[in-house]
Amino acid sequence: MNLIDLSEQEPHKSEPRRQPTPAGAIPSCPKCGRPMALRTAKTGKNAGKQFWGCTGYPDCKEVVRV
Ligand SMILES: [Zn+2]
Repeated sequence: MNLIDLSEQEPHKSEPRRQPTPAGAIPSCPKCGRPMALRTAKTGKNAGKQFWGCTGYPDCKEVVRV
């Protein structure tokens, strides 16, 4: 019986801002580890907003909000 077995549990996924990005720093993709590129959404309801997109796109479509 394991009373303390937190290793298999996923962290709370409802926290979008676990790793605040310092200005000027390029974050790494949380999924594949590639550097991310700052992009600006051109279409959709988020048009004009910036976000970090994985440079592994389209292999990896990971996106991190700025
Ligand atoms: Zn990626």
